[in-house]
Amino acid sequence: MKPVIALVGRPNVGKSTLFNRLTKSRDAIVADFAGLTRDRHYGDGRLGDREFIVIDTGGFEPDSSTGIVKEMAKQTRQAVAEADAVVFVVDIRLGLSAQDQDIARYLRACNKRIYLAVNKAEGMSESPLLGEFHELGMGEPHPISAAHGQGIRSMLEAVLEGFDYGDEDGEGAEEEQVIRLAVAGRPNVGKSTLINTWLGEERLVAFDMPGTTRDAISVDFERQGQKFKLIDTAGLRRKGKVFEAIEKFSVVKTLQAIADANVVLLLIDATQGVTDQDAHIAGYILDSGRAVVVAINKWDAVDSYQREMLQRSIEARLSFLKFAPVLNISALKRQGLGPLWNALADAYSSAYKKMTTPVLTRLIQEAVQHQQPQRSGVSRPKLRYAHQGGMNPPIVVIHGNALDSVSDAYKRYLEGRIRAHYKLSGTPLRIEMRSSK
Ligand code: GDP
Ligand code: GDP
Repeated sequence: MKPVIALVGRPNVGKSTLFNRLTKSRDAIVADFAGLTRDRHYGDGRLGDREFIVIDTGGFEPDSSTGIVKEMAKQTRQAVAEADAVVFVVDIRLGLSAQDQDIARYLRACNKRIYLAVNKAEGMSESPLLGEFHELGMGEPHPISAAHGQGIRSMLEAVLEGFDYGDEDGEGAEEEQVIRLAVAGRPNVGKSTLINTWLGEERLVAFDMPGTTRDAISVDFERQGQKFKLIDTAGLRRKGKVFEAIEKFSVVKTLQAIADANVVLLLIDATQGVTDQDAHIAGYILDSGRAVVVAINKWDAVDSYQREMLQRSIEARLSFLKFAPVLNISALKRQGLGPLWNALADAYSSAYKKMTTPVLTRLIQEAVQHQQPQRSGVSRPKLRYAHQGGMNPPIVVIHGNALDSVSDAYKRYLEGRIRAHYKLSGTPLRIEMRSSK
């Protein structure tokens, strides 16, 4: 499971700058939805193959009259509670302050791994000022510059060193033919109801009870010979023969389950329409590149007027997931579940579709014959051949000349043709252009 790293420190030390640096290009979606998570921001980061989740806290709101621990923003405490490791950010230019001492005292009591990042240290890593931060008793200070990207890698190496990333089972998993399914959605959309309906109907193969709350539940079952591994997103616990959701929605759990899955089922409550939180979760799924199927649950409980409003809210608010099939179901009345299984299986096989170089190259050449890319300046982009660059999501790499000037509209046109040929459903498709000059 991806480790979770919380960035903690007083305001203006550079936490958000560091957050953006760590989540790099992957912060786009998170940033788009930032208005929805005012208190804490979550993003995915990676160092080489090692992925992690970063939480940026709003920071402490120090009030000297009441003491910092009392005034500590609630979200900071929650972020620390959710985290496996904490990066405590201080500002070398302001030096060590009483507030930093208070935060350090709080963090020491939290029993988490703490790493001290001394920010704004560009051109100052040899500075004697660095030494004064030893006083915090948080181990060796790591001089970094979040703004200039200095010292970040070596700090991350230290932070991630202690985490077990397991043996690289990524490759084998693709051959495993097990659909690793995460059921994501807000509380009360019907996740437990759906899972119980499934498990009542299908053969339950194995069941792992977590040893600690940090372990996810996983349930293995089979339907018509297809193996599924259900990954806990709902905070599910077993009560007698059935599962129930006992926890409130957790962004971290959801992000971890999405990362661990190869297909995500996003459940929406028909009686509520598409809410901000639904759109937010959808944004995380899009960001992950996972295959996704959207199911509108409780379809039995809405009238035709509500159905029409729903259709509109899906078009307006989930337009960025347009590759995902949308199905109407009722977990309670057991309606629409057959088509849902088919959609999940299609999404899985689409995500792992094998595309050969000759077929892709032919598709590209036919597409060009049908419609040429626009000339930009003197040169017209020349698309020569294409090969598959990856799976889950499938990546198509197109080679040629002057490809930088291929417009987004033309890329969408190519994507549409490739999708249609391979009948891709429920998976993103990435197109990369590689010019030979
Ligand atoms: P936060 O309140 O802790 O999230 O801090 P911000 O990330 O908003 O940064 C506060 C200010 O410090 C901004 O003006 C940043 O541009 C600046 N800053 C952040 N990182 C660095 C750095 O590495 N070097 C310098 N010189 N300034 C930085
Ligand atoms: P979870 O928090 O996402 O696990 O949601 P639950 O499975 O606990 O469901 C929340 C409530 O919605 C319960 O009262 C369910 O009975 C109800 N519910 C779930 N699925 C359906 C459905 O398909 N139709 C209707 N009408 N109610 C449903």
